[in-house]
Amino acid sequence: MRLHLKGGSQSSGSSQHPPSVDAIARGLTTNAEEHPYAIKAAREAVATGEQWQTTASERFAHYANGTIKPLINMSGVILHTGLGRARLADEAVYAITEVADSHASVEFDLDSGSRGDRQEHVRWLLQELTGAEDAVVVNNCAAAVMLALSAQGRGQVVLLSRGQVVEIGGQFRMPDIIELSGCFLVEVGCTNKTHLSDFASQMDAETGVILRCHQSNFAQVGFVSQPHPRELAELAHSQGWLMIDDLGSGCLVDTTQYGLSKERTVREAIADGADIAMFSGDKLLGGTQAGIIVGKSAVMAALKTHPMARAMRIDKLSLAGLEATLRMYFENRAEDIPVWRDCAKSLTEVKQDCFKLKKAWGTGIIETSTTELGGGSFPGDGVKTWRFGLGTDHSNLMKNLRQSGVIGRTESGQIWLDPRTATPDEVKETCGVLKGLRNV
Ligand SMILES: *Cc1c(COP(=O)(O)O)cnc(C)c1O
Repeated sequence: MRLHLKGGSQSSGSSQHPPSVDAIARGLTTNAEEHPYAIKAAREAVATGEQWQTTASERFAHYANGTIKPLINMSGVILHTGLGRARLADEAVYAITEVADSHASVEFDLDSGSRGDRQEHVRWLLQELTGAEDAVVVNNCAAAVMLALSAQGRGQVVLLSRGQVVEIGGQFRMPDIIELSGCFLVEVGCTNKTHLSDFASQMDAETGVILRCHQSNFAQVGFVSQPHPRELAELAHSQGWLMIDDLGSGCLVDTTQYGLSKERTVREAIADGADIAMFSGDKLLGGTQAGIIVGKSAVMAALKTHPMARAMRIDKLSLAGLEATLRMYFENRAEDIPVWRDCAKSLTEVKQDCFKLKKAWGTGIIETSTTELGGGSFPGDGVKTWRFGLGTDHSNLMKNLRQSGVIGRTESGQIWLDPRTATPDEVKETCGVLKGLRNV
């Protein structure tokens, strides 16, 4: 986008008053439909003062082209929250497109013609996949935790190990969530070690829930211990309390087959006796944003009818994508889900992709590295990978890559691209971008 402005060049811009918003907007576009963007950009540019010409042009391109756009993720993190976490399987994309483009049987029983329940589309799948008696889905896992605690812990004491009093990110802090849910947090044990007896000694009449929370985005090493979830469930049940397990990522497959450490599955959490377990739809599950709650029928009933459940309702698009993703697990086709497909991509293939990138760029280095899972899973761990280093980040290279839709990573001034998370088409597209930027 070029600026054709009367009223001086960039150098004289600082010593003169910028022209009117209207004049800048006219300089930015001649298309009537782009005029609203030009006016917005011009107002922001004038407000910045000195650099108004560059600002005007950049802001205009930003707004006129749309701000939420597909990107090629070569950041070395599979589930990057900034990049929208899981990318979806083709079947999930298709399912979403279909119901987006038409009206759909979201809450409509085709047999009877009467009002149906949107939960039914995924309930049976979740029962099959986790062994739980019942399931409810809401819009994300943060909502799931709040709903479960509000419906089952309000006015009661919630016991949580000091090692699990965590902040997940984006202001999701366990103590705040517990308080907002109308419960009273009692921290038990120590930061590194919590024993079963620490929970057992809290036998006061106010206690209602033992909560477990996945440590997600950090790892503890050294003298560290937590009671086994089964022991916690047994203790809770012997006292008439509930055991609620916030699994965070919520894994449905054996992660060791990808060379990752063992992640407790949702099925194991249910088998260990959790009354309620919850997890995200768009972390290791690899589906749409959702909060999935599974557990015992008697306990889940109160969640379904809680007024908050309506405020946290999952939308039809997420629901359609989630159903399609869960079906793939049911059909034993997890490797067609991008998060697992990326993990399973062979080192040879990743290395070949690196060579293609290097050829397009003309120079650079290729070295081994680790692709992180992200989304609060396996901190400090990941899948072995190869990555391509372009060299130092000179003349806005990283910014140019970003603006061409390629997201890499800078590490000590070097730019790296990890193609493990890219499809063959995306590798090809990135090669085109690199060729284009070579002489910039
Ligand atoms: C990620 C995470 C959450 C929040 O899940 P969202 O789906 O992002 O709302 C809650 N608890 C734990 C342990 C998590 O890892």
